[in-house]
Amino acid sequence: RDLCYENNSKQAYEKHLKERNGYQYIFRFPPEPNGYLHLGHAKALRTNFYSAEKLGGVCYLRYDDTNPEKEKLDYIESIKDNVLWFGFKPYNITYSSDYFQEIYECAIKLINKGLAYVCELSQEQMAELRQNKQASPYRNRSIEDNLRMFEDMKQGKYKENEVCLRMKIDYQHPNPTMRDPVMYRVKYHPHPKTGKKWCIYPMYDFTHCLCDSFENITHSLCTLEFEIRRDLYYWILDSLDLYKPVVWEYSRLNVSNSVLSKRKLLTLINNKVVDGWDDPRLLTINALRRRGVRPEAISAFVDLVNVARRGNENIIDQKLLDYCIRQDLENISPRTMSILEPIKLQIINFDDFNVKQVKVPLFPKEPNRGFRELNISSELLVDASDVRESEPNKKQEDHQNLQKKSTKKVDKNTFIGIYPGSQIALKYFGVIEIISVNMQEKVVKSRLISTEEKERREAIGQIHWINPQEAVQCQVKVYNDLFTVADPNQFDNILDAVNPNSLEEYNNAYINKDLINLSKEYKTFQFERVGYFTLDQTSDIQENKIRFNRTVSLKDRVNR
Ligand code: ATP
Ligand code: MG
Ligand code: MG
Repeated sequence: RDLCYENNSKQAYEKHLKERNGYQYIFRFPPEPNGYLHLGHAKALRTNFYSAEKLGGVCYLRYDDTNPEKEKLDYIESIKDNVLWFGFKPYNITYSSDYFQEIYECAIKLINKGLAYVCELSQEQMAELRQNKQASPYRNRSIEDNLRMFEDMKQGKYKENEVCLRMKIDYQHPNPTMRDPVMYRVKYHPHPKTGKKWCIYPMYDFTHCLCDSFENITHSLCTLEFEIRRDLYYWILDSLDLYKPVVWEYSRLNVSNSVLSKRKLLTLINNKVVDGWDDPRLLTINALRRRGVRPEAISAFVDLVNVARRGNENIIDQKLLDYCIRQDLENISPRTMSILEPIKLQIINFDDFNVKQVKVPLFPKEPNRGFRELNISSELLVDASDVRESEPNKKQEDHQNLQKKSTKKVDKNTFIGIYPGSQIALKYFGVIEIISVNMQEKVVKSRLISTEEKERREAIGQIHWINPQEAVQCQVKVYNDLFTVADPNQFDNILDAVNPNSLEEYNNAYINKDLINLSKEYKTFQFERVGYFTLDQTSDIQENKIRFNRTVSLKDRVNR
């Protein structure tokens, strides 16, 4: 069913049919180039581009560039780069500014029809009159005067905010957006595309419907907060007898413990809470990408969220995003071991055993995908988080009882690592008994008990390790929630809700050196028991600058 048909006059519909190149579905993704794209835009992107793809239609990438002082070429390029990264192919890349001349001509038409007037009220006065449903004293200016004054606006004869062009609709309309909205204002800031050619700029509401109509968009999708602007969208096109697309609203994406609006992202950047638009703690596309998240994971997330058309202010739990990221990475990230905070583990009787090398599958569930060979030495590195100077919480007897039962289901609150007297398995290698722990010196002494796989499996817990003789130093960054609360938007100042511990930096971390070779083939690794990690874009392996970002934890974060 062609809704455009029902929506339009015969004349407008027939013209549209002629111009739409046989496509029954034409969408557009219309970002304003005043910042970088974020996860919310990923939803908009997918909703438009993927719908087009599925329906055999096409989708425009249209930059909505009508606020010259906020827009930059850098943003324009990054947006295109992000769209292509998702694998979407714009039918055409256009700019609202491509149509400035046509939009201007529409304004003249409305003035000539007596449907627009130049208003000299200040912004505050105008807001007050609109609020009180009162008419502007300039509302009944003659068409000739309006044309002349609008021309003067265009010629740069007014200061910014001195005058504006308004639509003459209904100052008492129940929908406030219909109360003689502004359609053009004066701005002298050079435009990133049109430079100083124009000093009058059309407002979003006037621009957007016209561009949609010019491009013969069949389905104009936008977020629910625009629902109230739909009357205006159609009023403008009706008044000009132009073709009207179908407008459809979908809910705006909000994600827990994070913010998505560009304005708020800028607040975080300007206050140096984060390092920039691609700081991996943000949910911009560039940040997610830098963290090692693939477009596949983002698309899966958006699709899950889209299944239900929810209320506008619904907050989606970030756990759902993490889940999609893990699902995507599971089969493409080989397992490795890494140590974030090294403690030396000495094995005093190492020479009594014959096992000097172990074979470790890259993908334990699919052993045919290759192995790594790890040499073992009498001194290994283990992670400080697995080491205590004395047994924490539980008593020794509890621990032994648990061991006797040899069940793998260990109480999560029980520390299963290294402390004097504990028995613990080193993954892939053997079971050790701890003789002593010296946190000051960062040394643990242990005795190897067994290298049998069966004994290892029965041990109360297995910890990861690394051989310092085969290790390379690196920097690892672990990211936690940027906000301590699910909805930071509730705070007047979002900075009050920032988590002071959103970044953990490990500058003396170690990975096995074979990762350098493996990184030619794989981008993300599963550091066993620690999480999924991706090489940071600033790494330079030849220069020994190796930096990893945590892409996602292995399990749900408990603090959420
Ligand atoms: P922001 O508040 O981040 O500046 P915006 O809506 O002003 O958002 P635009 O560049 O105008 O950003 O957005 C381009 C498209 O993406 C629009 O159709 C907009 O509705 C959509 N969009 C923006 N943010 C979200 C979001 N959080 N969820 C879904 N769609 C979004
Ligand atoms: Mg916008
Ligand atoms: Mg915006």
